[in-house]
Amino acid sequence: READAWETRFEIAQTRDGHRVEVAANLGNTAHAADAVERGAEGVGLLRTEFLFMAHASAPDLATQIGEYRQAIDALEGRPLVARTLDVGGDKPLPYWPVPHEDNPFLGLRGIRLALTQPDVLETQLRALLMASTNQPLRIMLPMVKDIAEFRAVKAIYDRLLTEIAPSQRATDVQLGVMIEIPSSALLAPSLAAEVDFFSVGTNDLTQYTLAIDRGHPELSASADGLHPAVLRLIQMTVAAAHTQGKWVGVCGELASDAVAIPVLVGLGVDELSVSARQIPLVKARLREFDFADAQVSAQLALSQATSDEVRDALEAR
Ligand code: PEP
Ligand code: MG
Repeated sequence: READAWETRFEIAQTRDGHRVEVAANLGNTAHAADAVERGAEGVGLLRTEFLFMAHASAPDLATQIGEYRQAIDALEGRPLVARTLDVGGDKPLPYWPVPHEDNPFLGLRGIRLALTQPDVLETQLRALLMASTNQPLRIMLPMVKDIAEFRAVKAIYDRLLTEIAPSQRATDVQLGVMIEIPSSALLAPSLAAEVDFFSVGTNDLTQYTLAIDRGHPELSASADGLHPAVLRLIQMTVAAAHTQGKWVGVCGELASDAVAIPVLVGLGVDELSVSARQIPLVKARLREFDFADAQVSAQLALSQATSDEVRDALEAR
């Protein structure tokens, strides 16, 4: 199976009956973009830029960041890059950006909340992303957004940058979107969808916050299953809100490479799956095994269950 998947890795990603689903790569390092393309990636669906920040003793300056992002963009040769702005705090502390002690770091200053406490760092990052290329598709994604106010705070900076940087000096095919990884943002997806360009569902954090299970907990993390019907309902709401507004939805958490979950996500209407580069041939091969109408039935079946075990049993019995 693996050998067959590898042989067909450059074919477009679609279901057996031709329903297109983009398959992109999750990267922590821009130097790995070329490898992702070699494995059949149709783009980068999640560039975790925090690793670039962690690799330096202080926040990397504009020129350093432009060089880094350009490396990924060049390797992608016209395929889209979805770059996530700095997502530290919580489980990912940054030594030169100390956060006062918190009893619950996962509920504290992390993601976009933390970034907005030092908007100059965020502004430099947005500027670098915009200036890294002029003619390649760029998607900028904000982590841990809980409602439209946080998006608007960043959008104000972004809009100002678009007027400050001459169009000849920056990306013009650019979108600004948010991750859906806090239940409030899924519940409020209609209000977000009216203003953002796209959503990408971070099922790792969305599951953690929906089920109140620490994603890294040594005993409990195994039961933090993204195929929980509560999580699936949030994804359903997210997709419905996005598509009503003509926006696209990706999934970039671990669930996107789960062979059992893939038909459910596709049946829910997800437009893009972003997975680790190594999984790309297998995810593409998995898509070719089922029809879209059948995936929609799987999604409805999953939504009607009461627990994640029931979802997995019901899907297996099908
Ligand atoms: C997620 O939360 O699902 C996600 C993709 O982001 P990260 O794993 O980097 O928190
Ligand atoms: Mg996350």
